Amino acid sequence: MRAAHGAAGRAFEGRSAIADYGSWIARIALDIDSTLHHYWDLLDEIAQRRYGVALPYAEQREWGITRLEHEELVACVRETHSDENIESAEPYPGAVEVVRGWHDEGHWIHVTSHRAGSARQATERWLRRIGMPYDDLHCSYDKVARCAQLGIDVLVDDSPVNLLRAADEGMVPATIVHPWNAELVESERALGGRDWPELRDKLEPVLRRR
Ligand SMILES: [Mg+2]
Repeated sequence: MRAAHGAAGRAFEGRSAIADYGSWIARIALDIDSTLHHYWDLLDEIAQRRYGVALPYAEQREWGITRLEHEELVACVRETHSDENIESAEPYPGAVEVVRGWHDEGHWIHVTSHRAGSARQATERWLRRIGMPYDDLHCSYDKVARCAQLGIDVLVDDSPVNLLRAADEGMVPATIVHPWNAELVESERALGGRDWPELRDKLEPVLRRR
């Protein structure tokens, strides 16, 4: 277990009396898009409407999106992060329940998303609406660096780039399995579940109290 440090460390120390008895409390970071909810279909719909370009989920086997120009992709992603779109997302079945279970066990939950700081309030409203328990929220473009600063133990994120960087930083990388990260999971470079209950089972040995 890492030593608690900084502002997050103070929050961490205050989280639970369980720590006083020597049980392990993990710091868990959770991505939002394609991790807590099914994001892809919205991105596909927006790309089709704006540019007439389809982005079929099953064919997205690489992380990079080459069917759109960079600035087109940026415009599409920005639209996915409008307040209305953020707040209307529906969580994956089991996601809130699994995270609530971790939180009830005393684990420290950091929600982190590559989205602009201006999306923070809508994101907070969404998390409240779906009943997601969390201790800390970060909306910015430096996800893995921030996780390293916080001493995160487990990063749940669908991006192969983030998963590999997290592993390099000593975190346990875990994901919901998608076409673009299936190979990483198959090659055991990341833990993967096809849904949240399976992901919880895969992470159970990691999070088990020591
Ligand atoms: Mg994501």
